[in-house]
This record gives sequence, C-alpha cells and structure tokens, in this order.
Amino acid sequence: MILAVGLQLCIQRVKGLSGALDDFRNVCTIYSPKYAEKTFKCLKDFNRGVALFTCPKTPIKCLSASLKICFIAEDYFRRNDKACEAEILYCSGLRKIFPVEVYEKTILKVIKHPIRYAARHTSDELRRSSADLQGIMHVTPPMSCAEVLRTCKELSNKYGYADVNLQTLQHKMYPNIFGLGDCTPGITNKTSSAVGAQSQIVYQNVLSIFRGKYPIAHYDGYTACPVVTGYGTCILTEFDYNNKPCESFPWKQNSESRLNYFLKRNVLGKLYWRYNVKGKSNFNRNLLKMFKFRR
Ligand SMILES: Cc1cc2nc3c(=O)[nH]c(=O)nc-3n(C[C@H](O)[C@H](O)[C@H](O)COP(=O)(O)OP(=O)(O)OC[C@H]3O[C@@H](n4cnc5c(N)ncnc54)[C@H](O)[C@@H]3O)c2cc1C
Repeated sequence: MILAVGLQLCIQRVKGLSGALDDFRNVCTIYSPKYAEKTFKCLKDFNRGVALFTCPKTPIKCLSASLKICFIAEDYFRRNDKACEAEILYCSGLRKIFPVEVYEKTILKVIKHPIRYAARHTSDELRRSSADLQGIMHVTPPMSCAEVLRTCKELSNKYGYADVNLQTLQHKMYPNIFGLGDCTPGITNKTSSAVGAQSQIVYQNVLSIFRGKYPIAHYDGYTACPVVTGYGTCILTEFDYNNKPCESFPWKQNSESRLNYFLKRNVLGKLYWRYNVKGKSNFNRNLLKMFKFRR
C-alpha cells in the first residue's frame, strides 16, 4: 500500500476566514482552486491601501507559492501604476522566510519597498473590520496532513504524517506500506518535485520487497521550487533534507534571472505533465546527468 493523501487546507483554523473568502471581495487565496481565480480579480480591483499576504507556521504545500503571489502582486501593481498607492506586507508565522540560508539571503534582498516583511506573525482571526478596509488580503491557510491519515494512529506519527523512514519511505511498523508526497514527514518544502524524486525511490523499494529483499534505495529529501519574483524573473531553488542546495544547472540558480524564469515558464511545466505525473520523473534527472549537470 502506498500512502499519498497529501495535505488538507485548514481554513476553519482561522476564525472568520471561510466566510470572508466567500463573502468579501478582497480576501483570496491561490491555495484553493475555488478561490484562485478570485485572487487575480482582487489584484485587478486593487486601487490603494494595504495588500497583506500571510503564511502560517504549519508546514504547507509549496512554501514558495505564498511568496510568489506577493512578488507577482507587487510587480503587477507596478506595471499598472498602482504601486505608489500600495503598502505590501508579507507576514509569515515562520522564524525564517525560507529554510535554506543562501536562498533566504537572496529572497531578503528581493524584498524591497513597497514590500515589508514580518517574521513570526500569524493571524488566528479575520474580523469584518479588517476585511472592510481598502486593500486586499491573500491568505495562505494553515494546513495539516489529510484527515484520513491524521486520525489513523496506527499509520501516522504524532504530527499526523505517514510514519515512514525518511530515507526508504517504508512504514516503520508495516514493511508492505510506503509513503509518498506531501503526507510524508521531513521535507522542508513540500512540492511535486519532491514527489517526483520520491516516487523513484518508492518504486525501487517496492520492487525489492516483492523480490524478498530489503529496500535499499534512499531518498535524500530532494525538493525544488521556482520562486518567481516578478513577471520575467525567478530564483530556482533545489535542496535536500539538510537544507543544502543541490542545484541541477550550470548557471547561477540562486539569483533573480530571466533564464530561470524562462525555464520555469516554458520548460518545467511541460516536463511536469509529460514525465512527473506519469511517474517518469527520473527521465528529467537522467537527462541532466547526460549533460553532466550536477545531479
Ligand atoms: C499554489 C500552489 C503552487 C505550487 N507550486 C509548485 C511548484 O511550483 N513546484 C512544485 O514542485 N510544487 C508546487 N506545489 C506543490 C504541489 O502541488 C504538491 O506538493 C503536490 O501536489 C503534492 O502531491 P501529493 O500527491 O503528495 O498530494 P496532493 O496533490 O494533495 O494529492 C493528494 C490526493 O489525495 C486525495 N485524498 C486525500 N484523502 C483521501 C481519501 N480519504 N481518499 C481518497 N483520496 C484522498 C486528495 O483529494 C488529493 O487528490 C504547489 C502547490 C500549490 C497549492
């Protein structure tokens, strides 16, 4: 059995958020398909005031997405002559804006007027008065492992994630059970790139089990995410369990560049649909190795 039930949004954990997303014209989130389109409408309708972007302290899907939307909004306001009317605030419940030091430094440099950043700030409640103000609020809701796994004490750890070995992804109690994706513990940035890397490990280890052998393939925590910093620029992050960068390409991924953006916009999406979702993500890595890139 392979556990791959992902994370769930805990919108109800922020008092008033559920109603606000439905009823207030200026509260949105890209994290739910239901409100993703509303987000662009909010950006278009924004004229002046505070644009508040939040990030909770719980683990979330793609940490960078909460940042990307803030950077994209700032660029959108600038291109549409709304920037000088905007006060943009990125409030994160986390101690650091990004878990990997080198990327953190670059991201902090990207944050400049009119964006301000506050660490260790979360909102537990959304009051009518705050949403009535001019401006917009983009909320990244708190998340937890999917209910079905979280409530199954036999299969989950004390935090509700699949209780698997971080390297082999095999369940600690049941050798015929594996974990895959966002519902596994340890990954510092839960992404589909991580799922792609993990799926090869799970595949090899499941075959080993079928053959009566021990699972020996090890996942190193590889995760990757493009941090889009505007329309045309991007930082390409790739790192492992130890928050050590493990970059694939021979150019400087850790700086805002058009090349990173080109790759994100024109190449990664195609690779994702063609290979990742079909379980062939090793193709990407083998291709990079063929060109003697680093991974
Ligand atoms: C806005 C946003 C931007 C992102 N950007 C990137 C990016 O640029 N790059 C990147 O690599 N990743 C990105 N991600 C992250 C990526 O989408 C996730 O990490 C990935 O989808 C995780 O895959 P998963 O299969 O583990 O979980 P999911 O994709 O969440 O799939 C889990 C599935 O299990 C189902 N499920 C849950 N409970 C049950 C049950 N009881 N019975 C049956 N089915 C159940 C769920 O309905 C769901 O379909 C982004 C995510 C978001 C939200």
